[in-house]
Amino acid sequence: MTSNWNKTKNWLKDHLNTQVFETWINPLTLNEITETEIKINAPSSFIKDWVTDNYIDALNKAVRETTGSALNITIIVSDEETITSSARISRIPTTNTASPANDYRKRLNPKYTFSNFIVGTSNQLPHAASMAVASEIGTRYNPLFIYGGVGLGKTHLLHAIGNQLLAKNPNTRIFYLSAEEFMNEFVLKLKTNAMDSFQAKFRNSCDILLIDDIQFIAGKKHIQDEFFHTFNALQQKQKQIVLTSDKYPQEISDLEARLKSRFLQGLIADIQSPDMETRLAILKRKADDENILLPDEVALFLATSMKTNVRELEGALINLAAHSSLENVPIDIDFATRTLNKIVVLREISLSVENIQKAVCKHFNITVDELTGSSRQRSVAYPRQVAMYLCRKGLQSSFPEIGKKFGGKDHTTAMAACRRIEMKIKQDVSARSKIDTLERMLGF
Ligand code: ADP
Ligand code: MG
Repeated sequence: MTSNWNKTKNWLKDHLNTQVFETWINPLTLNEITETEIKINAPSSFIKDWVTDNYIDALNKAVRETTGSALNITIIVSDEETITSSARISRIPTTNTASPANDYRKRLNPKYTFSNFIVGTSNQLPHAASMAVASEIGTRYNPLFIYGGVGLGKTHLLHAIGNQLLAKNPNTRIFYLSAEEFMNEFVLKLKTNAMDSFQAKFRNSCDILLIDDIQFIAGKKHIQDEFFHTFNALQQKQKQIVLTSDKYPQEISDLEARLKSRFLQGLIADIQSPDMETRLAILKRKADDENILLPDEVALFLATSMKTNVRELEGALINLAAHSSLENVPIDIDFATRTLNKIVVLREISLSVENIQKAVCKHFNITVDELTGSSRQRSVAYPRQVAMYLCRKGLQSSFPEIGKKFGGKDHTTAMAACRRIEMKIKQDVSARSKIDTLERMLGF
């Protein structure tokens, strides 16, 4: 069976360019092969999506040629699979299967761990404090309040604390939720007269409460009251509280003074923008994880161009990898400069119909004239529908407006296009992920 898979891979090696093969196909391994199906492991969801989008035809053909039959191909993400299944095993509680904490635990993203969090001077304190909390809850820093700008790793650390505790003791009652989710649940319980159960759950059945983006409760009196009492109850029992926020407590306007003073009682740790060295380390780690061949020179260039936000830094890397595969060229410095300029330009100019059209044209390799023209050929008509859909979704443009910007078409054409793409997204995974990529490139 494995030898069949090796044959398939060799076939692909002969038929695809070396860089494509090394980047996207070589990392795939065989999971299982039956008479009707071949199951393949991909090391990351990025690779899985990319292969599904771009090389599924090649894979199908290779399988047909080398096994003599048209097997169904399924690609699964090996790491995630392992993590979820082992997490599932460790999550089987010894006693209370129906413990409400289970629901909140499931929200922990196994991808965010301490081991893949890069530590530098910008985040040393919040990282160390998070580790301390995860090793001994409730006693050291309570609450731990992590604050900093967007995309700097606050959510990552919060999940890492939860994941670490879970790995150590699957029975720890970990509640992870955003402040918004806390509020939604509060409102729901209020409506259904179930406040007692809400309060009992948060105040009595929780060992550690991880609340993301606490600044959300600013200006909302009822939820602040409720949170204040939850906070006190937990703190009295030496249960741990960890909060993240985009602002320092004193700077959150419309937050009750008593809450501010509670938040200030523990340890306040801020995350700052990463320095050059940390940015480089994050890029290298990410490239490694995603099997992207990233030359030092390009890493340096990326780390110099994107300084403040780790999420954007990662986004640029992923974009680069996507473009490199699309255009079939390795990621070298020339390519990176060219591509990154486009990405940065797209980001900086606010989203517009013209930008959407340009991005779609580039993606499908057609001209703007073709896109706004009247050809009904699928190679042009489909990108046109996608672009119309993106204008509707990203800009909330009206149908007549969209029609006008696409060569003066009728509003019913725009409406039909949007409907068709909405349907397509529901039915066709590969189309959906292509459109997702476009949305990400446009910064939706
Ligand atoms: P925040 O919640 O502060 O807005 P996130 O925790 O969502 O930011 O981080 C944004 C992205 O950057 C995530 O994919 C996260 O894994 C990554 N990231 C941030 N800081 C680091 C770091 N120090 N090491 C590795 N990845 C990081
Ligand atoms: Mg966050």
